[in-house]
Amino acid sequence: MTRTYITATIPYVNARPHLGYALELVQADVLARHRRSIGEQVRFQAGTDDNSLKNVLAAQAAGVGVQEFVDANAAAFTGLAGPLSLSVDDFIRTSSDPRHRAGVELLWRACAARGDLYRRHYEGLYCVGCEQFYPAAELADGRCPDHGTVPDLVSEENWFFRLSRYAGQLRGLIADGTIRIEPAGRRNEVLAFIDGGLADFSVSRSTQRARGWGIPVPGDPGQVIYVWWDALGNYLTALDYAGHGENLSRWWTGASRRIHLLGKGVLRFHAVYWPAMLLSAGQVVPTDIAVHGYLTENGRKISKSGDATADPYDLAGTYGTDAVRWWLLREVPPGADADFTVDRLISRANDELANGLGNLVNRVVTMIHRYRAGHIPAATASTPGAAALEAAIRNAPGLVTGALEDFDFRRATEAVWQIADEANRYANRARPWDLARAGDPAELDAALSGLLLACQAIGTRLAPFLPDAAARITRQCTPDAAGLLPDPAPLLPRIAPGPLSVSRLR
Ligand SMILES: [Zn+2]
Repeated sequence: MTRTYITATIPYVNARPHLGYALELVQADVLARHRRSIGEQVRFQAGTDDNSLKNVLAAQAAGVGVQEFVDANAAAFTGLAGPLSLSVDDFIRTSSDPRHRAGVELLWRACAARGDLYRRHYEGLYCVGCEQFYPAAELADGRCPDHGTVPDLVSEENWFFRLSRYAGQLRGLIADGTIRIEPAGRRNEVLAFIDGGLADFSVSRSTQRARGWGIPVPGDPGQVIYVWWDALGNYLTALDYAGHGENLSRWWTGASRRIHLLGKGVLRFHAVYWPAMLLSAGQVVPTDIAVHGYLTENGRKISKSGDATADPYDLAGTYGTDAVRWWLLREVPPGADADFTVDRLISRANDELANGLGNLVNRVVTMIHRYRAGHIPAATASTPGAAALEAAIRNAPGLVTGALEDFDFRRATEAVWQIADEANRYANRARPWDLARAGDPAELDAALSGLLLACQAIGTRLAPFLPDAAARITRQCTPDAAGLLPDPAPLLPRIAPGPLSVSRLR
């Protein structure tokens, strides 16, 4: 049995989730649902990074206690499972889940036992927004390239991780594809970074600078474990790493694939720091690192701290889960950035879901009711003139699997869309309405049965991408015990532009 572990990154909970995070969750969900549908065992893991200094600063700005603040925001992240129809198996919160702290401590001790942790004085430029030190050469006019803010000069005694020791081994694992990084451009970026020389990195900070928030360094209570060490550890701690439980051997050590999905901004942490920590701790490394780009909204960067931000709750509440998922899957190129606008979401949903898929299923079921009183015509092995449609149905599973293996969600949905496209073309050529008038029952049965098979195939193939719409299509196209199809109902109605329903609590 093939077992696959699929993770989404755990975001800081310094504000509510935005559409960029929804992108990653939906991508992970599609992979999980698809792999389950082909018989694999899958664990889809998500969570929140509660222990960041950013959270502490945001709580202070809001005048709220840190735990209370992260609890409230984390609930907004876990709650996305509903409006986005996510099949997430487990959700770990780093500040409150008892599995986490014990696991992070064990990971620390494992690396310490290997001789990879040591203390030294350090001075550097730290961006709290990124939670990382920047060498002066990576700053843009002295500012963080990501946040545009001037980093803090930090001077203190810290624990360091001997990253330099793993440079050669890491390079080999990435170059030979043991750790596969997609798209290839990102892989080359990581290899170039390793070739530039890997310096040991600071993995703790003073408890004072951390405002007393985070996991203390085992045996050194004056230091708190660096939030990235803590956060990356979640991929193991969520599998009961500290308890040496069955989940660890099942989903990490013994899994066929360990797939991390992440945004381009955290590539270095996942492709360099994390595998090195695992090697040090004597664990296997991830098999796949799938990198997505960023979303902009109306040409502007979407950020949790910005104000005019597309809120996934509002979008799903106003336009529906299917429309939001479809936009994310159809319009975001693999590994690249994409610009979101509500207009694009609406026209994509109306063109392809309402006019394309919804209309097709409605038309076919309506004709079966009109011409055959709702009874399914006898299925024929082959329908005359339907070769292209039959090929689209036959080829879809392989095309979907191949595209998802490349983390290309646009190409995967295209294979499903092809069935609808060919079915519409076939209907317009076979003209069942003319066959009914001409009184040609055998040809009419063949045409209706071919079209119904196409709609049923769409219901099946669409399920990983749009689980809700797919379930409605399948219900609509499945006969009852008496062999009768349900009455045709609108499955994917057109959506109209309108104000977002701002129902949430800010
Ligand atoms: Zn920054």
